[in-house]
Amino acid sequence: MRDQMQELFRAALGLAEPWVVSKIEFSEDRRQLDLWLDFPSGSRFVCPACGRGGCGVYDSSERTWRHLNFFQHKTLLHARRPRIECPDDGVKTVDVPWSRPGSGFTLLMEAFILVLVQGGMTPAQVAALIGEHDTRVWRVLQHYIERARAAVDFSEVTAIGVDETSRRRGHNYISVFMDLDREQSRVLFATEGKDAQTVAAFKQDLEAHGGRAEQIAEACLDMSAAFINGLREQFPEAQLTFDNFHLMKLLGDAVDQVRREEQRTHPELKGTRYVWLKNDWNRTEKQARVFDALRSSKLATVRATHMKSVFQDLFACESVAEAEPLLKQWYFWATHSRIPAMIKAAKTIKKHWAGVLRWFASRISNGLLEAINGLIQSAKRKARGFRSTHYLITMVYLIVGKLDFKLPAIAPVTHTK
Ligand SMILES: [Zn+2]
Repeated sequence: MRDQMQELFRAALGLAEPWVVSKIEFSEDRRQLDLWLDFPSGSRFVCPACGRGGCGVYDSSERTWRHLNFFQHKTLLHARRPRIECPDDGVKTVDVPWSRPGSGFTLLMEAFILVLVQGGMTPAQVAALIGEHDTRVWRVLQHYIERARAAVDFSEVTAIGVDETSRRRGHNYISVFMDLDREQSRVLFATEGKDAQTVAAFKQDLEAHGGRAEQIAEACLDMSAAFINGLREQFPEAQLTFDNFHLMKLLGDAVDQVRREEQRTHPELKGTRYVWLKNDWNRTEKQARVFDALRSSKLATVRATHMKSVFQDLFACESVAEAEPLLKQWYFWATHSRIPAMIKAAKTIKKHWAGVLRWFASRISNGLLEAINGLIQSAKRKARGFRSTHYLITMVYLIVGKLDFKLPAIAPVTHTK
């Protein structure tokens, strides 16, 4: 019976010769399962340096690894880790098959941690679940990201997007560079800062992974001078498209400014901010009532809102040729509106004319950033957000980097139907 149990655990752990399960201890009181792994005396191992087989054991030292819980029981593996003596390389520590060098977790435990975080738990929640400090969880995540990023290939990338976000409004910005070639875009690179220097850092990283700057034909960005200048300098072949989310934000902010000024003389506009920022299809019933009551008035806020929605409708055009004359008409209308905030917004559009129209040819946008911002919001709800920018970058790679972590499949959390 004892032997059968040991054989069962040997199979469950995927242990190959010469490793065996030598002892099993199960404590109901401590809610702990301890497994001792061992190799028979006279066992021979492969040299980790040169791959030579049949090396004899020189000495060994006791080590412990945290494994997946066995139901609610904390499971620890104990083994003496052998060092072999190779005729060519001398004394070397043997890699054990259940763990990677330097980790106190088994590979399955690490795979489990990654699956939980990718599935939506924060590292802090995972740490609490497994009863470990969260820095251990972060270290595992960072190791796999580094390893997976070392192997990524950017040689096919021709369209990129860049945008910025922060873990807290107004603080510690990171710039996120996206691959927009694929239907499902992915994050290529994320780094601290939001200046032209981050574009140079991205170019370096792109080229370190087989990408070529002169191959980048399209780039999507907001209208910040730092990104415009950085992209023109580092990717001179790229045609720039201004992200339509940011264009609509420009007009939304202008409308809001018009309302704030106008409500001083028109108190009926107080508390109506979202009535004007929302679209016809997403106002609440109450907001729709306010909108309908004011829509035929001569308020500048109403006219500005109309200008915003006409601008938005331009995105339904099928080509640059169709869009450009309409954009010109819109520009004339806005600049003759005598509403300063709208004139200013229209002039910003004019200044970025080619990149506004480029969308009708390139059709690229930075929508992936919404997913990233959702991730930041959700981390804020579950914990108090990410402790550092470095952690935020780790999560960005983990969730939207589309990296291949090359981990063992974990049976206990596989979803089957
Ligand atoms: Zn060797």
